[in-house]
Amino acid sequence: MKIGAHVSIAGGFHKSVKRALDLGCDCFQIFTRSPRMWKYKPLNEKTITLFKEARKESGLGPLVSHMPYLPNLSSPEKEMFEKSSEALYDELQRCKKLGVEYICTHLGSDKGDGKGEERVVKAIISSIEKSTAKGEVMLLLENTAARSRIGGDLKHIANIIEKVEERGFIRQVGFLMDTCHAFAAGYDLRTEEAVEKTVEEIDTIIGINKLHAIHANDSKGEFGSGKDRHEHISFGMIGADGFKAILHHKKLRKVPFYLETHDKKGDKIGHKQNLAKLRELAL
Ligand SMILES: [Zn+2]
Ligand SMILES: [Zn+2]
Repeated sequence: MKIGAHVSIAGGFHKSVKRALDLGCDCFQIFTRSPRMWKYKPLNEKTITLFKEARKESGLGPLVSHMPYLPNLSSPEKEMFEKSSEALYDELQRCKKLGVEYICTHLGSDKGDGKGEERVVKAIISSIEKSTAKGEVMLLLENTAARSRIGGDLKHIANIIEKVEERGFIRQVGFLMDTCHAFAAGYDLRTEEAVEKTVEEIDTIIGINKLHAIHANDSKGEFGSGKDRHEHISFGMIGADGFKAILHHKKLRKVPFYLETHDKKGDKIGHKQNLAKLRELAL
């Protein structure tokens, strides 16, 4: 099994590899730039070389880049939509240069006009068409915590993947399941039976072969609450039994897991403890 975590690139991209190694990750996730700003510096050759060498030596992977938070691929506002599509295209190019395998993106908000799916498809198609990352970097659509929002229902994700593939872009787009978001959106993960049912739904609606990564987060919010609040593994509403069932499901064991729980210096529980907990429950 592959179990890892989101780590910082502070001090240089290559430092993220060291952080992941020090934690004992098998795989890891990064932001390739500040997630709360539109502006960023272009990558330079030295940065890329240092990073690629460090990663090659580490053997860690697959690597996921999480899209910044500001872009909204479903936005009904033209300017915002175009800026967001451009950000997706830029991220594809950056990830190709860095040798990143997956980009994880949220689907944004269509502000209730119901045309979000259409716009996400449009943004993805135009980004891939322009990009040179075709066949090298795959886009993973992340499910969201509220069922009523785009990406909350697995059907939205299935529709988007289908429409992108209809346009001839096969194996360019996949699914990333966040356990906290799925649980908050009403896909139960608390018991073996519940996990079995949820995996069945993923398989029927999207296809389990489209699931390429899992964000392993317990949930502070209750089942179906629609709340996106991550909790340390086994301390939330999914709980130890839930994660045990998730980690033991034969269709999920093949998929890499990435923690996105709090990891602050000085806190009693951080990535180290959560990784140990996931490994213990996976035994
Ligand atoms: Zn996530
Ligand atoms: Zn979240």
